[in-house]
Amino acid sequence: MPTPRSTLVTHWIAGRRSAGTGRRRAPVTNPATGRVASEVVLAEPADVDAAVAGAAEAGRAWAATTLAARTRVLFAFRQLLDERKDELAALITAEHGKVRSDALGEVARGLEVVEFACGLGHLLKGDASANVSAGVDVRDIRQPLGVVGIISPFNFPAMVPMWFFPIAIAAGNAVVLKPSEKDPSASLWTAELWKQAGLPDGVFTVVQGDKTAVDALVDHPDVAAVSFVGSTPVARYVYERAAKAGKRVQALGGAKNHMVVMPDADLDGAADAAVNAGFGSAGERCMAVSVVVAVGDAADELVEKIASRTRSLRIGDGSGDADMGPLVTREHRDRVASYVAEGEAAGATVAVDGRSAEPDGDAGGFWLGPTLLDRVTPGMSVYTDEIFGPVLSVVRVRTYAEALELVNGNDHGNGTAIFTRDGATARAFEHDVRVGMVGINVPIPVPAAFHSFGGWKSSLFGDAHAYGVDGVRFFTRTKVVTSRWPDPAAAPSGGVGLAFP
Ligand code: NAD
Repeated sequence: MPTPRSTLVTHWIAGRRSAGTGRRRAPVTNPATGRVASEVVLAEPADVDAAVAGAAEAGRAWAATTLAARTRVLFAFRQLLDERKDELAALITAEHGKVRSDALGEVARGLEVVEFACGLGHLLKGDASANVSAGVDVRDIRQPLGVVGIISPFNFPAMVPMWFFPIAIAAGNAVVLKPSEKDPSASLWTAELWKQAGLPDGVFTVVQGDKTAVDALVDHPDVAAVSFVGSTPVARYVYERAAKAGKRVQALGGAKNHMVVMPDADLDGAADAAVNAGFGSAGERCMAVSVVVAVGDAADELVEKIASRTRSLRIGDGSGDADMGPLVTREHRDRVASYVAEGEAAGATVAVDGRSAEPDGDAGGFWLGPTLLDRVTPGMSVYTDEIFGPVLSVVRVRTYAEALELVNGNDHGNGTAIFTRDGATARAFEHDVRVGMVGINVPIPVPAAFHSFGGWKSSLFGDAHAYGVDGVRFFTRTKVVTSRWPDPAAAPSGGVGLAFP
């Protein structure tokens, strides 16, 4: 049966919905039922050209708008988002599958960045030095880049774009967002909210699409910078391609986050943290804990505590009262389940088997229950690969030094955590671990909005982290002005002299 016209998820160009010129479409599925709910248009390069042209024009006027006027729009957007966050959360649940409380949490973390960007007057201030030489002053001013592209993944359809666009827009840029084609509606909803907040048409643009749209955006000569978030292979590709085209680029990639549990830790607290951070959002978080590194004697007790909590989780439709929703697509669910089988075949102990879990939901949903694998070793695919699902692996080691070596040897370096009661061990870990974001008795150390978010190693290509002060730097360029205003009453100075001043 053809999809009704009203369920077409379109682009947002020049302040209105647009189906664009392309004829390609992709299905958007409700993961809790397995049924196609709508179709999303997929941009062709001509659509990206139209979007960027509109953004470039609108961006010129926006950059010239006063700080006071821009600030008012940011505050209005913040207010509307807070008032209507339930609508956005419902859209996220319907297309991503995560449970309602988790979707609301995602919106709340995005809102924090909007609130940070509301302080644009302070953030955009430059430095100044008076009288560096006779009558000479130096000051720097921060100016917007022009049109910036944001390319985002499926797992945070609202929050990840909000890591970037509030700051980019506050700084006077025009944004072209290319969201994931798996859950595209949040972006369109956000565009309408910006319009309601008073943002001029064209300053926030959405281009729906796949690789074709990404390539066109990354190659476009009028796109000055690209912020990408997604898997490591695509992050590397976008980084290299955008850099080759001479753009400023930050590309955040995948993760394999380790949580080290020392024998002296509060094991109940650590087990709670491992379950929450391992299975929240069905493990489809870049800061999910995917490996628990159990150090020394406490391993048996810790595994039992994690297992009993894992068995108590209820899986079901995210719009109900389940703890955990489905995975995003059937293919992804099957892929994650195949990792469990591979781990088992390679000798891991399946302490809790999510493949036999009974969901409270439609039989067609993409279900996989939370799974705990014990005695995983670093050679197994379940350890080496980013699984991005509700599979928690336990690797047992004897000492802190072995735990550190394991974390540091991993290709990814997004987040990590240590659970201990010993300050010296925690401090040593904080200094020695080669990972971008570190939690001490905190399992998901996502930095607050006024710090910056970013991993190390293959979890981030480029040098600017997302949001916070790094975000302000990324979306502005500094111009340094050296000025002299000669005193007309003073004797003429200088004359000709060719020495370096
Ligand atoms: P993905 O890499 O498949 O897609 C990300 C974006 O790139 C999407 O907009 C998609 O349309 C586009 N894309 C996909 N394939 C492409 C290709 N070959 N060429 C050009 N563009 C392409 O990622 P995903 O599955 O949507 O998201 C999950 C991944 O994102 C995980 O690896 C997760 O760890 C990562 N992630 C990282 C962070 C972080 O902060 N480091 C945050 C969230 C998600």
